Amino acid sequence: MTPKHIVVYATSDLHAHWRLPARGTGASPGGLAHVGAFLAGVDRERCLIIDNGDLLTGSPLGSWIARQDWPRGHPMVMEIERLGFDVAVPGNHDFDRGVQQLREHIGASGQIQFLCANWRNSDGSAALPASTVLVRDGVRIGVIGVVTGHVQRLSIYDELDGAYFVDPVEAVRAEAERLRPQVDLLLVSYHGGLERDLVTGKPTQYDTGEDQAARIIAQVRGIDGLVAGHQHRTAAVLAPVSSVPAPVSGVPAPASSVAVVQPGYGGEYIGVLKFTLLDGVIIERTATAVPLTGLDTAPRTADGAFGPASPLAELDRKAQQWCDSLCSLTDTQIHAAVAARLGGPASVLALPPEPRSWRQISAAFQAPYGVQHYRMPRRELVSALEVAPRWTMWGLDVRPSGGNQDAAVDFVANAALNAVLPPWRVQRAEVIDWFEELAVTEARVSGTYSRGYEAEHVSGDAPYPGYQHEHEQDHDDA
Ligand SMILES: [Zn+2]
Repeated sequence: MTPKHIVVYATSDLHAHWRLPARGTGASPGGLAHVGAFLAGVDRERCLIIDNGDLLTGSPLGSWIARQDWPRGHPMVMEIERLGFDVAVPGNHDFDRGVQQLREHIGASGQIQFLCANWRNSDGSAALPASTVLVRDGVRIGVIGVVTGHVQRLSIYDELDGAYFVDPVEAVRAEAERLRPQVDLLLVSYHGGLERDLVTGKPTQYDTGEDQAARIIAQVRGIDGLVAGHQHRTAAVLAPVSSVPAPVSGVPAPASSVAVVQPGYGGEYIGVLKFTLLDGVIIERTATAVPLTGLDTAPRTADGAFGPASPLAELDRKAQQWCDSLCSLTDTQIHAAVAARLGGPASVLALPPEPRSWRQISAAFQAPYGVQHYRMPRRELVSALEVAPRWTMWGLDVRPSGGNQDAAVDFVANAALNAVLPPWRVQRAEVIDWFEELAVTEARVSGTYSRGYEAEHVSGDAPYPGYQHEHEQDHDDA
């Protein structure tokens, strides 16, 4: 028999980046523009392309899109469909604008199979298929999609509309047992991270259960490859699944390993898993995170992006223009909008003075995040703040009283409080969430927010300019 070569390409945590803003020196350009340039050169007959979630929000482009309230077919979804992605898994942030809107975006895609083994509707039914089987060069490839079980803790309760998320390990185990006999190659695309070093077994963080890739690998039999994400880290490793000595990343490993890749943030890297099969048996596997550099020789379009011209490039140009326009919201309006969204006082936000552009507001809250949202028992909060004598300036009345000592409190903290509060209690560390909330709030206040972008700018069936909309199938009942 001739060996067969299957390659899996994976993105994760693109966070609505067409082009990633420059960060330091030597950083990969990143963004979906460069992912597209990379994918333009791959062998489509023998590959599988997966997006591992947190696709829709997290950049000025994402916030600008949210301002338009796209009714169906989020531009990021339509762009990865245009690039030929086969499978996508929703990440926790893809629920930021609500379950209903996410469903509409998923439903607008005709070719990408959205998977999630642990997302349940309020009535307990599965919201999406747990897995799919794709055939490449005669090889049957099973893919199971799954998201961190912490979506409920990371999302705004009302936006989930009763949806809940069961244990990812159990969900993958059940689906793997069912699927394994039907496939030659079994992959898991997990929008969650690595809680341990997969070779040494040492914990890499406080283990809250938010990231469970090591558990999935250790507790579910029969997985050949796993795509991780969510932590915005980069990793590529052959994870031993028994007591076999740890193989070195990038070299052939015994069959008792899982090829794992975590492709960073914003399309700086693309994850690549390669499998060689002989007579249906995997004889070699590798995992690599490939930086999206060295693509400068790719053809440039008029706007300077790499690769073929994309409708998203034009939307990104409009989003950048919007970033340089002035935000009309007052401090009071901004505080009210953030407080409503985050459910806590927003007076700690250090806003730049008026008049201010959206870009100035965004720049005031760069990573590693100026605002975090905590939910923790009063008793724990009080003991934590005993080492922070200035805590009263934040306006928090958290002194224990009567039998109410253990009632949980929600509040927004800043860098000073972050230094003294236990990191495992952080609920939301995402500045961009409220930036997007402001973008939508201003559009509402100024009367420009509506489901009108489609009617205003597009005629016919296309959900937005530049993308054909040939598929009306609805995944809602899947
Ligand atoms: Zn995530």
